[in-house]
Amino acid sequence: MTKELILHWLKTTDARQVARLWKAADDVRRQYVGDDILLRGLLEFSNFCDRNCWYCGLRADNTTVERYRMSEDEILDCAHKGMRYGYGTIVLQSGEDYGMSAAWMENVIRRIKRETNLAITLSLGERAGAELSCWKTAGADRYLLRFETSNRSLYDQIHPRCGEKGGDRIALLKKLEELGYEVGSGVMVGIPGQTYEDLANDIELFRSLGLSMIGVGPYIPHTGTPLGYADKLMTVPDGEQVPCSEEMPYRVIALTRLVCPSANIPTTTALATLNISYGRELGLSRGANIVMPNLTPKKYRPMYEIYPSKACIDETAADCRVCMHRRIASIGRTVGR
Ligand code: SAM
Ligand code: SF4
Repeated sequence: MTKELILHWLKTTDARQVARLWKAADDVRRQYVGDDILLRGLLEFSNFCDRNCWYCGLRADNTTVERYRMSEDEILDCAHKGMRYGYGTIVLQSGEDYGMSAAWMENVIRRIKRETNLAITLSLGERAGAELSCWKTAGADRYLLRFETSNRSLYDQIHPRCGEKGGDRIALLKKLEELGYEVGSGVMVGIPGQTYEDLANDIELFRSLGLSMIGVGPYIPHTGTPLGYADKLMTVPDGEQVPCSEEMPYRVIALTRLVCPSANIPTTTALATLNISYGRELGLSRGANIVMPNLTPKKYRPMYEIYPSKACIDETAADCRVCMHRRIASIGRTVGR
């Protein structure tokens, strides 16, 4: 798949061709990763964040957010629940929370490994090499860090530096691989200032980084962030801005499946937010093979508002489990073990 071909598939307005793309992605998905859908329980355990990403509702300068950090015992309760629900993995996600020390996280990881049979994915932002190494030794298996866009100048615009910390997520993804993590990354689709060319480069970068998991979701504007008013902030040539639409992320998922046939690709909560009835199912039918049922206790969910009207905000972990099983059965697929 050349870059020209990726660009063609991203831009075509021919409905019959788009239908061919969905079919090709679904065929390749079946051939390479089968009909099983893997369940990975998502636990959003802290919404404290030191960073100020221009798109995210959890950014440090958003003073309207009520902040929380779950206790070690609360996290362990959720991990036990995830194991009872048959999830193979717990994904521990938070803002870039420096109130959470490396030693505290290390202890949480060790306890989950001792008390459950879950694999652990961390999604904690751009942490220092020594911390990442310590958590790997403690038992963490995977790390998820989206590079968000491969366009360096767009990346720099929407990710203000946080003192000396962070700044080069691609380098950090390579470091994570050296440390022995299975590495996941991904992008948002439709960021103001993102062109089709950028998106084609993103898909090519997925391939060259050899990622084992690739998360693709729509960018959803949040009015409590600078990018929520983006049309005033960035301009791109006419016709080149990637639309902030429901369909475009499905095209990126489908192309990602064709370019990285063996990757694990989730159907994201953001897809369900744009289409609560069928967003997850459409993702699964157009290349995805992972779902991430939410394990976060209901009382914390409204506080993890990275974008508005987030799906599943009024549900419990038990509701999410039943809902995911029903959706998987409805499209004739099976739950993987
Ligand atoms: N703090 C960690 C990080 O940044 O990697 C993990 C949590 S962060 C909330 C997880 C992901 O949420 C980000 O990688 C970003 O792609 C996504 N996100 C944040 N704001 C978003 C928005 N307005 N629309 C869609 N996705 C968003
Ligand atoms: Fe913090 Fe992650 Fe949101 Fe950026 S995307 S503000 S690092 S939670």
